[in-house]
Amino acid sequence: MDLHAQYRSIRSEIDRAIADTIERSSYIGGEALAHFEVEFARFCGVEHAVGVGNGTDAIELTLSALGIGAGHEVIVPAMTFAATAEAVVSVGATPVIVDVDRSTLNVDMEAAGRAVTARTRAILPVHLYGQPADMDAVADLASHHGLHVVEDAAQAHGAEWRGTRVGGLGNAATFSFYPGKNLGAYGDGGCVVTTDGELARRIRLLANHGRTTKYEHEVAGRNSRLDGLQAAILAVKLRHLEAWGARRREIASMYTERLAGVVEVAGQDPRGRSVQHLFVVRVPERDRVRRELSARGISTGVHYPIPLHRQPAYEAFGAPNSPEIWVADEAAACILSLPMFPELSDEAVERVTDTFIDVLDAVSVERGELSS
Ligand SMILES: *Cc1c(COP(=O)(O)O)cnc(C)c1O
Repeated sequence: MDLHAQYRSIRSEIDRAIADTIERSSYIGGEALAHFEVEFARFCGVEHAVGVGNGTDAIELTLSALGIGAGHEVIVPAMTFAATAEAVVSVGATPVIVDVDRSTLNVDMEAAGRAVTARTRAILPVHLYGQPADMDAVADLASHHGLHVVEDAAQAHGAEWRGTRVGGLGNAATFSFYPGKNLGAYGDGGCVVTTDGELARRIRLLANHGRTTKYEHEVAGRNSRLDGLQAAILAVKLRHLEAWGARRREIASMYTERLAGVVEVAGQDPRGRSVQHLFVVRVPERDRVRRELSARGISTGVHYPIPLHRQPAYEAFGAPNSPEIWVADEAAACILSLPMFPELSDEAVERVTDTFIDVLDAVSVERGELSS
């Protein structure tokens, strides 16, 4: 990604928003935050948005507000950023890690079904790489077992499932505004959106010292707020987000076309509309290919090289009824994230794919020679 390219494209708007906020000296709460919350809720097609400190707190506060804690289990996919499971542990509950779908790498809903026990209270589908999880199957499982659904939408601002924006597909959705996310702040930030007014009220209470008025504290809460400067910056960027999402999809289809028959591209579920946070392919000898690409000036990522159930912090939490998490293991060894950001030009996409194809050829020729 190239964060500075994005700043250059909207510099005057951003500079004005920052100057205005400083002029008003409203750093915590205030007009900029209230405005952003209204606009972001509207963008997600829901009534309520609560700005919080970061995407991890957004999950943790939502689980707390839903009454999830010690003795409860929450189903999470193996292929995600650690924060998904971390937030579950933070509220005292147990993350139950399940395998992912071979094509999309989103949660495998059959595995999730097998993982439900009498203690399961919620499922945390992650909309990985910007693509919604199978929210039909999530809704079926949740209604069958009376589970809460908290969408981890940290990578999926504006993604849609059957025409409905993520955020309106469960009890609540949580977002991260980490700088590299599709909607990124200039620091940490996060948000919870929901159609449930009472849930929004409880999250707001917990995130602001459990306070009902300046001096009254209804519950022991904490401090996790989205500050005024970040809200002002995010409100500017939000105006561009739909167009940035469209450009990301355009880049993804260029990649898909140019790499057809060369590498396997992570699958798209036709019921969803991805916002292509990442563009992920599978390659043999991934680490070699990465090094070669880097030597030729192309940086890539891996999301993620170590699935949750292989992390020292979470390896104890594999689902007891489905111990085999082999899809995530297989994927972790060969997935590669190609450059993806809206400012990437058509020429850059061509250069990346040409170089990538060269590198793959070179690596496979070498492999052929070695084995003969
Ligand atoms: C980035 C991310 C988070 C955490 O967000 P922070 O703002 O960094 O706390 C949670 N879940 C997923 C899937 C993420 O990608």
